[in-house]
Amino acid sequence: MKRIPVVDIAECVDCGGCIELCPEVFKKNEMGYIEVVALSKYPQSAIQEAINICPADCMTWEEV
Ligand code: SF4
Repeated sequence: MKRIPVVDIAECVDCGGCIELCPEVFKKNEMGYIEVVALSKYPQSAIQEAINICPADCMTWEEV
């Protein structure tokens, strides 16, 4: 079981905070939306910090 972050782009206010905190995990795609990079391992605590600071509260964990 692996935990990956999921962004609800409908709620995202494009503050850039998650990219600043975890540039290896979050990036902006060509449409201007936040995207989660496909990684074999995700830095759990750094992502949790990004989730905590997200002003739109639009990031959650998904277990896959
Ligand atoms: S921190 Fe939240 S609101 Fe800000 S860009 Fe990331 S997903 Fe969007």
